[in-house]
Amino acid sequence: MATATTDETTHSPGDAAAPTPAPAAPVEPGIDLAWLAERIEYRRFQDCVHCGLCTASCPTYIETGNENDSPRGRIYLMRAVTDGRLRMSDEVRTHLNLCLDCRACETACPSGVQYGRLIEPFKVAMEQSASPGQKTGPLQRLILRHLFPYRRRVKLALAPARVLQRLGVLDLGESLGLTKLLPTTLRRMQAMLPTLGESPRKLPSVLPPIGPRRAKVALFLGCVSDAMYPETNAATARVLQQNGCEVVIPPGQACCGAIHYHSGVEGPALALARQNIETFLGDDFDAVIVNAAGCGAMLKDYTHLLHNTETRASAERFVAKVKDVSEFLVALGPVPPTHPLPLKVTYHDACHLCHAQGIRSQPRQLLEMIPGLELLPLEESEICCGAAGTYNLTQPEMSERLGRRKMDRIEATGADLVATGNVGCLLQIARKIKERGSKIEIAHPIDLLDRAYGGTGAKGA
Ligand code: SF4
Ligand code: SF4
Repeated sequence: MATATTDETTHSPGDAAAPTPAPAAPVEPGIDLAWLAERIEYRRFQDCVHCGLCTASCPTYIETGNENDSPRGRIYLMRAVTDGRLRMSDEVRTHLNLCLDCRACETACPSGVQYGRLIEPFKVAMEQSASPGQKTGPLQRLILRHLFPYRRRVKLALAPARVLQRLGVLDLGESLGLTKLLPTTLRRMQAMLPTLGESPRKLPSVLPPIGPRRAKVALFLGCVSDAMYPETNAATARVLQQNGCEVVIPPGQACCGAIHYHSGVEGPALALARQNIETFLGDDFDAVIVNAAGCGAMLKDYTHLLHNTETRASAERFVAKVKDVSEFLVALGPVPPTHPLPLKVTYHDACHLCHAQGIRSQPRQLLEMIPGLELLPLEESEICCGAAGTYNLTQPEMSERLGRRKMDRIEATGADLVATGNVGCLLQIARKIKERGSKIEIAHPIDLLDRAYGGTGAKGA
């Protein structure tokens, strides 16, 4: 177990009843503390009163039972490093890197600890200070920083995969074990590929409302989500039109920046944030609609990300407009769908929708509006499926464990279909469905709503 040079296992430094420890000489931090101090307010560490009420909801603690893999343990480690009592050793890195940044601990915490505001800058600083042996590998870096955040590059990269998939070559390669010859990262990416449909037609830049106009909205397309599930973006536009929205797709929009930020590069993430703010504030939209939970959480965090910059005021105006599609529709008052979907459906809460954005009831409300659809409860619906952005590439073993756990719970419901509102969860659960040869279908809730309005709604897996 990683330990701080001062024993903090029974009390915090702010605890008046605790004996005052002898000051210890600061250790070599192994991380840029000045950089971190500009980004983390120290009081955020002090918000944690070490009660441990968060541990039971932490997926990594549930799996390992190790205090250092719990929210409380990680806050201890980060604070000890910040205080100069603990070096950012390989062992500390391992425990912090294993964190999914799912933020289930924030939901569970009665003291309002904003854990994401601690771990996210820490992970950036860890990547910046990593030695060559600790850094993300060059292939992974190339994919995470130069491929995934760029919609057109991902689409281009998927073109040959689409052809090979259609010819059955990928399935054949898999059954013959040839895909094992690929580098690990590529092998995992290949295993996660959903069934790619026809090359989708580009959405027009403006789609008119159906019926009287109730709102003018901008649609945020995302990068990986638009490349992997373009049909879901088309379904989202149709659903919004059905609900009286004029839908605009601003061409200048970019990736939300989450992939760069979570892989440890802050500069390009900030540049993408500024580009999106400028693009979406360029017209008078009532809302900026997002259908991918991870992107929505990142876009809503722009105020914090840019809090030290001259862009802060625009970021605040932008963030006030960002809405998850389910959040927006429920607030607008959704038009009841009329086409029955006789399906048993269970719903998995994407972490960045339920924990980061507090959106739980709205997707369920939309599903329950669909005639013939029966919504079944899912045990541990708020526990991460192991996708967590790019976690399934960087921490494959824990990602696998959580994926299996999620799939066991889904199968136990007896549902025909699992619905979830995030591209990472769709890919992760779809892969598990495929691996098990299960007949369960997977879809975004908006795809189901689209089908219930008479649209085609993407199939997902
Ligand atoms: S529940 Fe909150 S205050 Fe309690 S240990 Fe966890 S993070 Fe700290
Ligand atoms: S973000 Fe998730 S994995 Fe990380 S400490 Fe919190 S609950 Fe655990």
